[in-house]
Amino acid sequence: MPHDISHFIDGVAVAGTSGRYLDVHNPATGEVIARTPLATADEVRQAIAAAAAALPEWAATPPAKRAQVLFKFRELLLARKGELAPILSSQHGKTLADADGEFARGIEVVEFACGVPHLLKGDFSEGVAAGVDSHTIRQPVGVCAGITPFNFPAMVPMWMYPVAIACGNTFVLKPSERDPEVAVKIAELFLEAGLPKGVLNVVNGDKEAVDTLLTDPNVDAVSFVGSTAVGEYVYQTGCAHGKRVQALCGAKNHLVVMPDADMEQTVDALIGSGYGSAGERCMAISVAVPVGDETADRLVAALAPRVRALKVAPYTDPEAEMGPVITKQAQEKINGYIDQGVAAGAELVVDGRGLTLQGYEGGYFVGGTLFDRVTTDMAIYTDEIFGPVLSVVRAQSYGEAVDMINRHEYGNGAAIFTRDGDAARDFTSQVRIGMVGVNVPIPVPVAYHSFGGWKRSLFGDHHIHGMEGVRFYTRLKTMTSRWPSGIREGAQFNFKSGAEH
Ligand code: NAD
Repeated sequence: MPHDISHFIDGVAVAGTSGRYLDVHNPATGEVIARTPLATADEVRQAIAAAAAALPEWAATPPAKRAQVLFKFRELLLARKGELAPILSSQHGKTLADADGEFARGIEVVEFACGVPHLLKGDFSEGVAAGVDSHTIRQPVGVCAGITPFNFPAMVPMWMYPVAIACGNTFVLKPSERDPEVAVKIAELFLEAGLPKGVLNVVNGDKEAVDTLLTDPNVDAVSFVGSTAVGEYVYQTGCAHGKRVQALCGAKNHLVVMPDADMEQTVDALIGSGYGSAGERCMAISVAVPVGDETADRLVAALAPRVRALKVAPYTDPEAEMGPVITKQAQEKINGYIDQGVAAGAELVVDGRGLTLQGYEGGYFVGGTLFDRVTTDMAIYTDEIFGPVLSVVRAQSYGEAVDMINRHEYGNGAAIFTRDGDAARDFTSQVRIGMVGVNVPIPVPVAYHSFGGWKRSLFGDHHIHGMEGVRFYTRLKTMTSRWPSGIREGAQFNFKSGAEH
């Protein structure tokens, strides 16, 4: 019997009142296992009001005291992640090992945020003019909102609120309506760790909830992670309503294979980064760009048997290398792209359509798919498919590979596999991409660096977590103070440089 997921407002789990629900499926079986309540604007406003009420006291709490709560939160996450991973996997479909990795990456952001007393330290300049000193501080922005995608239901929210809350803000999270339960349970753990009620709230919902967060005057900043079409809308609407907005969006990540690359290492990298989590990662590699036909032939010959051998299974199978995709609609969309690739003349080397698993006939499975001889005008190249589909686009030169990447509308991640330091150095300098790997296929920055793309993969000025996260969730204030000991300048009518005082 499906259960109803709750909201978490002002420290209490509350049932939805709108009467609108979205079914949450186990993607491995197609069964409905839960229902997400879709909040009304009023319910969202209650969460915003709780966050606004909790703000003054939390913002005034010394950073070292806030950090104590984060230390305790980290301990609880480590202790309970084993119970939470199956909930995550049953609603998302990813393997338990992948869910565990997602928790590990989220917990690293909490660990980074534990250092907030140091991160908020300002600058001080003595004597910017005679008897005058300047110093800077960083103060919280206010009530922050987070809108997150289905593909990392634990980690992506944790890219946001640990840093925001450590910096003295309060927060309203609107997780993906497809698999939100784990986000609600993690918020409950934060309360258990000693977070005052109202500092972190979770409302479930769809466009109505998002629009309320984007337009309510009591929300000061919005972090979004999701698709480009929605992210652009969130950015424009939030900015038009006077909010600070960062929107991290879609991707098409290329991996360039140079003729001198270690082919075994490259193939391992492409299998993991192309097909892990069924390709439902914004840093998945979806395009391989071998340089030269000889490299391409070797690559495809080595890749094809590995793609055919991928173990596709539900998360309950400990041998699973990838699970199902999130919904039936996603499965149909991915199959539709494979149809389009074939129709456009790409060579379908491994076909993942029509995969059914015995005992899991209702599951949304797509097998690993490999295309060769894809060209840059095909939809399977231009669009983010967000499934286990890898396209090989053959480049005749290194320069052609870099141009191809730079012309693509997305700019999240890219990688080069080579033994040549010159090529690697040129690549990292020339690609118009936010996160670049050298012999690293998914160059996701660690928590104390910052995550974000370029071009239509990010709208806004700040990347997420790390110092960029601290900058996004704080406002800089600069003080200039005079403590005169016998210095009198009289009334000053003209601007002066410090040196002239
Ligand atoms: P999505 O854009 O459909 O949903 C993201 C959020 O926006 C959800 O909370 C959803 O409820 C909300 N939303 C959806 N439609 C809306 C609308 N019309 N108006 C207002 N809000 C709306 O994304 P998804 O399918 O959940 O996630 C997959 C996408 O996220 C992919 O494009 C992927 O690349 C991207 N992603 C990007 C990053 C990154 O860091 N750049 C990380 C993870 C995922």
